[in-house]
Amino acid sequence: MRTLTKSVSNKLLAAGALALSLALPAQAAINVLTCEPEWAALTTELAGDKASVSSATNALQDPHRVEARPGLIARTRNADLLVCTGLDLEAGWLPLLVQQSGNAKIAKGQPGYFEAGSFVPRLDVPAKLDRAEGDVHAFGNPHVHLNPHNIALISAQLAKRLAAIDPANAAYYAARQADFAGRWSQAMRKWETQAAPLRGLTLVEHHRNMEYLMSWLGMRQVGTLEPKPGVEPSAAQLGQLLAQLQQQPAKLVLRAAYQDERASNWLSQRAHIPAVVVPFTVGADKESGDLFALFDTTVQRLTQAVK
Ligand SMILES: [Zn+2]
Repeated sequence: MRTLTKSVSNKLLAAGALALSLALPAQAAINVLTCEPEWAALTTELAGDKASVSSATNALQDPHRVEARPGLIARTRNADLLVCTGLDLEAGWLPLLVQQSGNAKIAKGQPGYFEAGSFVPRLDVPAKLDRAEGDVHAFGNPHVHLNPHNIALISAQLAKRLAAIDPANAAYYAARQADFAGRWSQAMRKWETQAAPLRGLTLVEHHRNMEYLMSWLGMRQVGTLEPKPGVEPSAAQLGQLLAQLQQQPAKLVLRAAYQDERASNWLSQRAHIPAVVVPFTVGADKESGDLFALFDTTVQRLTQAVK
């Protein structure tokens, strides 16, 4: 099915490129900058060669903390569309980056700013905002992309936004979205079957960034390595967590590829549970080159660990 669509779109593309080459040098219709690699992968699924896509962060970087280097500011200045998780995930660096770029069309509230997290049902939304409780995310947990049902919802919205930014290619984006949606829902059924043994599994995570994955697959967190969001644990804090696991045992300790392995390995050795690393996003390892491979690898790593 993919090959068929590809060959049709290649013909369309060839016709389009020919028409364009009479007037302009061949180039992508729009520049898209994403905050995280998963949104670059999704944009590429939907826009193909019509967009030149790059991500501000790579898969081995912590998306909460990014430095606005000159090269990144230049890419921000040239972007027609900015695709980010939002929900304050990038609050520490994105507002400054957009301001420094001087690019008004991708400012918050403009059609050139797409906030992926705003299109999905959110977890961990605080019942009330209390500054005394520290750095609470008012909009809920921002790490939405590891539930593939969220990817499906966001994909439909992103295809519409691409069409709004680049109306000349609206039919192209709609066709690619339909093709992606079909393949994605088929893949979701496969992952859900493969992951059935994970239902009811308890785990320790490094940071609260696996909540959507857990809620999708029916897994439950019984502790985090971080004592507070963004704070690495001390030896004493890990000791407390280890003691706590005697009351509420965990089957594994889970971290993302970008997170430091030390605390995870410490707990794994003492609690005698496997330390599992998932890619977390596209491009973290050679098994996770696109969104389909990201979920294939994630489900495989988890099911292997509990065999
Ligand atoms: Zn976070």
